[in-house]
Amino acid sequence: MPSKNDDTRGARKKIYCSFCGKSQDQVKRLIAGNGVYICDECVQLCSDILDQELVETPREEMFQGDFLTPKEIKSYLDEYVIGQDEAKKALSVAVYNHYKRVASPKKTDDVELSKSNILLIGPTGSGKTYLAQTLAKIIGVPFAIADATTLTEAGYVGEDVENVLLKLIQAADYDVKRAEHGIIYIDEVDKITRKSENPSITRDVSGEGVQQALLKILESTVANVPPNGGRKHPQQEFIQIDTTNILFICGGAFDGLERIIKNRTNVKTIGYNLSGIPVKTQEEEDAQILHQVTPQDLVKYGLIPEFVGRLPVEVALHPLDEDALVRILKEPRNALVKQYQALFSMDGVDLTFDDGALTEIAHEATARHTGARGLKSIVEDVLGDTMFEVPSIKDAVKVEVTKDSVLKKEQPLVIHGQKQKEVSSDHISKRKAGSAASPAPKAVD
Ligand code: ADP
Repeated sequence: MPSKNDDTRGARKKIYCSFCGKSQDQVKRLIAGNGVYICDECVQLCSDILDQELVETPREEMFQGDFLTPKEIKSYLDEYVIGQDEAKKALSVAVYNHYKRVASPKKTDDVELSKSNILLIGPTGSGKTYLAQTLAKIIGVPFAIADATTLTEAGYVGEDVENVLLKLIQAADYDVKRAEHGIIYIDEVDKITRKSENPSITRDVSGEGVQQALLKILESTVANVPPNGGRKHPQQEFIQIDTTNILFICGGAFDGLERIIKNRTNVKTIGYNLSGIPVKTQEEEDAQILHQVTPQDLVKYGLIPEFVGRLPVEVALHPLDEDALVRILKEPRNALVKQYQALFSMDGVDLTFDDGALTEIAHEATARHTGARGLKSIVEDVLGDTMFEVPSIKDAVKVEVTKDSVLKKEQPLVIHGQKQKEVSSDHISKRKAGSAASPAPKAVD
């Protein structure tokens, strides 16, 4: 049967969406591929289906025993998270084991699989939160972030730990069953340490009390959560949630932890890493030493033994060096450079960063000691004025960011010319159908 796209009647060939059959007058936009066309409505529909699949499918697979293997989980992580290879490996295994345990019947031949909550140790901006968040996205489970420093034990001013669970329930759109398989990231657990290693010293509310309050939810409990947040009232109705299968990932910078490890291991000199490769800086050496952390070191640091016991997987992250920061700027699926390029392309403007610019941005982020966290505000700063001006410059076709623009010696260069955004349908119809090369999609009006 001839398709509508074969219709050659009329002076100018009318084109139709190859998917829904609507003509170019019925839709806002038709995009041409190799002899086929797709309309904006079908693109949106396809995008919704793909988003849905990323969120829904893996979850179903994970819970029906058809797991993503640790290798598969890691390779998904690789698409988003640069470096941190050891952390990604350890996390992939821990998450795999966790969901295997969730999907398995309660006991396997008397061996009860215990929960493998995770502790991430690494400096600010090294990707702790991002790793946890990306994992949740890959597996397709609800995800919530809490800050340990805002929590208090029941009865004191501050947030009850149950509010952490409420955040997860909200992330699952109040579907408690879904929330019960979710992931919670608790940041800054290194700031709720007790002040002294001697437990007989009077209990301090801010530290040990919060660790105690967290203990219950980290393991298995059926918690009563006030549906609107805030403090509990006796007459209130509660949402009940079982925390047995919720995976908790805790994170912190643990400044000074390396000193405790060094004292224990008697490492005194800057020299070689675990693989015998010479290390260059004190920072690098500290990062290497963190890999040797033991539960006892964490107790020495100020976590209570029961709390450490509930975080059996300890993973150290490296500070990100300048090379890693440059890669983070341009490589991940949602890299900052790609995001800004997408923004500019909506105005028909091609945005480029030369190598010097990227290195200088990474250099500045390193100087600020904010890891990858600082990258966005630096780029925002560099492009601020340009983003204000360019949409009003009708013939702007390109913006070039150089090292000097990052150093604020000059504004990014705006190049003027003729926009190439719109391509006529005549031009498209002349394109040879079925050619071997697959041309980039172009918009047709
Ligand atoms: P942390 O929790 O360790 O302080 P974050 O995970 O909040 O750091 O990192 C801040 C941002 O920096 C993230 O949202 C992410 O965009 C980016 N980022 C951090 N580390 C990485 C990494 N290793 N790979 C890619 N992006 C990263």
